[in-house]
Amino acid sequence: MNNDLRDGGHVPPTEPTPTAEGSNPTGDHRLPTWAPRVPKHKIRRLYELDAQGIIDDDLIDDVGYGLWARGKAFITACAAVRGEVVCPACGAILHRAGHDKTQVMVCGCGWSLSWGDYFETIQRKQLSGAEPVLALFGSYVDRFPEATTPRARMLLIDELLHGFHWYYKTGTPTRPVAINLIEGRLSDVIDFLDTLTYGSGSTPGLRDRKAEWDERIVYARSWGRDAP
Ligand SMILES: [Zn+2]
Repeated sequence: MNNDLRDGGHVPPTEPTPTAEGSNPTGDHRLPTWAPRVPKHKIRRLYELDAQGIIDDDLIDDVGYGLWARGKAFITACAAVRGEVVCPACGAILHRAGHDKTQVMVCGCGWSLSWGDYFETIQRKQLSGAEPVLALFGSYVDRFPEATTPRARMLLIDELLHGFHWYYKTGTPTRPVAINLIEGRLSDVIDFLDTLTYGSGSTPGLRDRKAEWDERIVYARSWGRDAP
């Protein structure tokens, strides 16, 4: 069994309910798919090479655009939960309100699906976060394709991977956003970031960011202990 496929949101389509209001049994009821989290081994390799001062353009773009697609999926999924749903057939934005999962969304292109079936594809896939994370991901999505040098791209990847979710009441970091971007459980992802390779050839700025991350992860770990 290929884990990538399971993580990729390729859920088998469910049978439409012909009697549901507004649905069309002969129409398009496809489910949205979400870009998967990026495999650890690619990121580990990226940092190993960077530590030796080796610039691998292809690997930087492979990881960078994997994160770009994942970040975009995250933003799209969060928007859907807030009420702006992207039609998976034509890309149009549909507006919905409330939490009624039987509510059927209908697009002018002929696509329709219940909000419950749509939401099911988002749940338990590490696709939710609050405004600071959306801002971080949005900034990466905008800036990565614009960055003109591999070093600039490496810095953007590094900045993204070392971001945090923040608790709005106390302004303290709660968990790394890497859980939304890299495959694995939270503890695995934290250990993974803790053991990335740095060296004399590392892109300038990477070690400073790691030091900042080391301070923040102390708060995040204490948050994890105290959380219910
Ligand atoms: Zn459509």
